[in-house]
Amino acid sequence: MADDVRRVLERVFGYAEFRGQQEEVVRHTVGGGDSLVLMPTGGGKSLCYQIPSIVRDGTGVVVSPLIALMRDQVESLQQAGVRAACLNSSLPYREVLQVESALRAGRLDLLYVAPERLLGDRTFELLSNVPLALFAIDEAHCVSQWGHDFRPEYLRLSALRERFPGVPRIALTATADEPTRREIVDRLGLRGAPIFVDGFDRPNIRYSVVPKNNPRKQFHAFLRECHPGRSGIVYRLSRKGVEDTAEWLRDAGVDALPYHAGLGKRERQANQDRFIREDDVVMVATIAFGMGIDKPDVRFVAHLDLPKSIEAYYQETGRAGRDGDPADAWMAYGLKDVVMLRHMVENSDAGDARKRLERRKLDALLGYCELTTCRRRTLLSYFGETVPERCGNCDNCLSPVETWNATEAAQKALSCVHRTGQRFGAVYVIDVLRGSEAERIRRFGHDQLSTYGIGKEIGAYEWRSVFRQLVARGLLKVDMEGYGTLSLTEASRPVLKGEVEVHMRRDLLPKRAAKPRKRAAPRPTADPSKWSDVLWEALRQRRTELAKAQGVPPYVVFHDASLREMVEQQPSTLQAFAEISGVGETKLERYGEAFIAVIRAHASPPEKAGAAATEQA
Ligand code: ADP
Ligand code: ZN
Repeated sequence: MADDVRRVLERVFGYAEFRGQQEEVVRHTVGGGDSLVLMPTGGGKSLCYQIPSIVRDGTGVVVSPLIALMRDQVESLQQAGVRAACLNSSLPYREVLQVESALRAGRLDLLYVAPERLLGDRTFELLSNVPLALFAIDEAHCVSQWGHDFRPEYLRLSALRERFPGVPRIALTATADEPTRREIVDRLGLRGAPIFVDGFDRPNIRYSVVPKNNPRKQFHAFLRECHPGRSGIVYRLSRKGVEDTAEWLRDAGVDALPYHAGLGKRERQANQDRFIREDDVVMVATIAFGMGIDKPDVRFVAHLDLPKSIEAYYQETGRAGRDGDPADAWMAYGLKDVVMLRHMVENSDAGDARKRLERRKLDALLGYCELTTCRRRTLLSYFGETVPERCGNCDNCLSPVETWNATEAAQKALSCVHRTGQRFGAVYVIDVLRGSEAERIRRFGHDQLSTYGIGKEIGAYEWRSVFRQLVARGLLKVDMEGYGTLSLTEASRPVLKGEVEVHMRRDLLPKRAAKPRKRAAPRPTADPSKWSDVLWEALRQRRTELAKAQGVPPYVVFHDASLREMVEQQPSTLQAFAEISGVGETKLERYGEAFIAVIRAHASPPEKAGAAATEQA
């Protein structure tokens, strides 16, 4: 058995080594044990149950909440020569019958089932009469009622234990916090089962947060500098935001598509399909989009509105760079966002306990936005991991942020809010502080206040940064009913009395801010003077053709990482081609010749081959 699992890894999936805890999990499951597996997105959860399903007798049943995800996984497995199928509500009856009969005949290694389907009498009955290798419960956090992906059908999965004693169950999730973990163990009856945890770090993702100041321009600059012509996701809070952003991106020449719950089902599906099946589509979406999108080559996730919590942020940004290539999590954030989210929490219908929880989560998120230290460290500590002081791959590590003693500015701001009667928003209060000549200030008599004009030495941009940070820290409260009216809080008093100091991050005006570095990711368009670029493009082209002909996404044929290795190694025989990571026996047979032909046609002159390999590396 010891060699069985490694042989499957190599022969079927074409990988040389297990990652992280994969091997332990695989061996434990092959041995018949239950477990809970916590791995980050892109960590390689699927292999943890796919290999045991192949190695063990009987069919492995995978409970998966999303049809798109199922389809993707089944296609990938079939490409690798694994006998996989799925049962869900989108399947025509004729195909259901085919899948059922394959299952009965013992011709399936893996069967993906939607939870509501699994719990139906018909499927239960069917599964009771065939040998089963295991149950894998994917996205196991869906069982958590407090979580953001709760699915009531998941609660009923506790029945599996009684109904199928002796069949190992493996629950998998990328959501790591302690309460969710406990809930999964409780509700799925996994008490006593080992928990396998892989580090949650996503080292290839670069985190950055920029203070909003013309977000369109900022985002466009980011796109141009870092990821021209590559796939990415842009999150917005509202449908209208999605529509607007998709439109201006299209105007700017970006292949952007909208996705939100207000679109017709058909349009949503069509947009999602294009995103998955093409190499360079940018999806602008509300959070309705993303769960169950397994596309490995998403190069960036951008937030133009704030996410709900750090958990949500980590999950959403985790959709970037599953393939391990460099990727970005980029967010623009401003005073308005803070005000809006604070308002949403305070005015929700939730009960007190829930509200307190939401307030805490929002505070953590705002704290993250305002960080002056390593962002990765804060994210990972939030999930209970201890990590080095600096990661070297977030904005704050790459260009350190200045902080300043803002105690006096904070006092002026708070006192001006007080003097103007706690009836105005930030824009107005800033005008008073800066001694604006505006008519309405005179009308209210606020040009007579002691705080009128006491903040002239600070620019309006800096004042906005000060107010944003005051609200983010709860030193000012915002009332949206009153159009963003600011008022003091309990926490403001010690600041006004000079009992505590306030230090703030110094936000640089964008033109003074450091330019983002360019990086050596695979180039989006070929530079014809470089044969390696030409080969890269030719391989991508071939991949697209092969994928299109079969109606599958390109990455199901080969990942970018495999193509890059082909450029570096230039295998010209099947034997050499088999050494490329991601090339198993089936893919070798199916695609070897086709890709070798492309490599031969674009082969570099022998004297340049060495140089080319270094250039790619
Ligand atoms: P998750 O479900 O945890 O988000 P996946 O199972 O989809 O992650 O795996 C992410 C990517 O990593 C997949 O493209 C997969 O093929 C690849 N992968 C997984 N395990 C290995 C491995 N041992 N070696 C190389 N690549 C791997
Ligand atoms: Zn860092």
